[in-house]
Amino acid sequence: MFHLLRPCRQVGSVLEIDLDELRELGIRGILLDLDNTLLAWDNLVLSDEVQNWVRHAIAEGFQLCIVSNAHWMRLETQSVVLGIPYVADAMKPSTRAMRKALDLMGLSSHQAAMVGDQIFTDILGGNRLGLFTILVVPIFLKEQWWMKGVRWMETRVVRTLRGRGRRIWRGRELKSKVHKN
Ligand SMILES: [Mg+2]
Repeated sequence: MFHLLRPCRQVGSVLEIDLDELRELGIRGILLDLDNTLLAWDNLVLSDEVQNWVRHAIAEGFQLCIVSNAHWMRLETQSVVLGIPYVADAMKPSTRAMRKALDLMGLSSHQAAMVGDQIFTDILGGNRLGLFTILVVPIFLKEQWWMKGVRWMETRVVRTLRGRGRRIWRGRELKSKVHKN
């Protein structure tokens, strides 16, 4: 079970994803969580940096797709702004929506990465499907009240994985450094 909760990589934000490494691994598609990965959960405006990163990744030859548990009405705007497709109501860690995204991109699971800020949804779902999983530090650390329980559970997982000799960090510990597991 715990190996499914362990991300393949951890980075401070999407801006720090090593696209060259992904290409070398044969990855051609990137599935992106939205809330707290691309923008703060209570925000509707994507930062210029994130928008530029998406354009850069597309220019580098990657296909991108937003895969989010959010309702399509929240995703539609961001999809138009970024010029990339989305799969809404994903119900991660269910792999159904991730498989749909792979179908949209015409890629198999070993050709794609899943990027997100939550271990129990993004990382678990991605690992279950055999995607290359990348955990980012949540953009907005002051979250909905119910997320406190989720983050507490994530901390327990991180401690357990560390106890087993794995290199893994909690969000605040990462700061802006890129770490490789
Ligand atoms: Mg998220």
